[in-house]
Amino acid sequence: MSARMAYFQGEIMPLEDAKVSIMTHAFLYGTACFEGIRGNWNEDDGNVYVFRTLEHYQRLRMSGRILRIDLALSDEKLCEITHDLVARSGYHEDVYIRPIAYKSEELIGPRMHNVADDFLVFVMPFGDYLDADAGIRCMTSTWRRVDDLGIPARAKVNGLYVNSALAKTEAQENGFDEAIMLDDRGHVSEGSGENIVIVRNGKLVTPPVADNVLEGITLSSVIQIARDELGLETVERSIDRSELYVADECFMTGTAAHVTAVIEVDRRPVGSGAPGELTRKLQQLYRDAIRGKNPTYAHWATAVTPQAASDATGATARSESLA
Ligand code: PMP
Repeated sequence: MSARMAYFQGEIMPLEDAKVSIMTHAFLYGTACFEGIRGNWNEDDGNVYVFRTLEHYQRLRMSGRILRIDLALSDEKLCEITHDLVARSGYHEDVYIRPIAYKSEELIGPRMHNVADDFLVFVMPFGDYLDADAGIRCMTSTWRRVDDLGIPARAKVNGLYVNSALAKTEAQENGFDEAIMLDDRGHVSEGSGENIVIVRNGKLVTPPVADNVLEGITLSSVIQIARDELGLETVERSIDRSELYVADECFMTGTAAHVTAVIEVDRRPVGSGAPGELTRKLQQLYRDAIRGKNPTYAHWATAVTPQAASDATGATARSESLA
């Protein structure tokens, strides 16, 4: 048995009971920040492995500093609530966890100061977001990535995702899988919900954080895996649109997208037009890491045993070391 569950106003409850008013500030103005965390089902040992929970909450706290939203709970408590929620939900499949820190007051007037805030988190089943194995076809969007001077992309601000949604819809309605957004200087920024990496001359190249990108947790994990397992260096520097056309390989990274090969940009094949060799290697290494299958990265993945509905009280998660 499994059930959609939420932590809302200090309690764990069925998702359908967690409701906000239509006058909630976050609903009126997008004044909220969020995270996306994956729980990855491991068939072999019957656990859901929640990936880098702490790092996600550290980033949520950073987003909150920008939006002037205080997270009252400690990182440890936030992780505990999250793992508890996953255990009690009882899913035997991949899940997606969505924590939100939001301006919860019922109040008219766009501002950051003197508006009460709150925190919630919910969990739901979630399979593949993009076709990671076949690779995806992308277009450079006509929508520009919002600049740090407008809405900072380093903060995962709910309202900022209008920018992503415009780009994603344009790409899909034009027959592509995903958008690549350029910033207003024409530099490659990121996908609608993914960071982007190209391979040139045996090195990984990814845009610097100052090119209006989210500081991706998947990306930093992949950079570390690339260095430690494959001896690959990553260079952070601006990338022009035309460099996408001459890259040897290209891939996107993200909690939802994992490591996904980009096989075509603007109807031009990337490299041979099939997922590149380094991309495939990184994809496999990352896949094992997020399911708790690589002892080197066991500390990134917290094993949570899904509970049967009958014993879904007082659930606790275990941090399991495979080493
Ligand atoms: N960029 C954007 C705009 C995103 O929404 C995401 C998904 N959170 C990412 C990059 C990738 O970040 P992460 O690997 O931390 O999920």
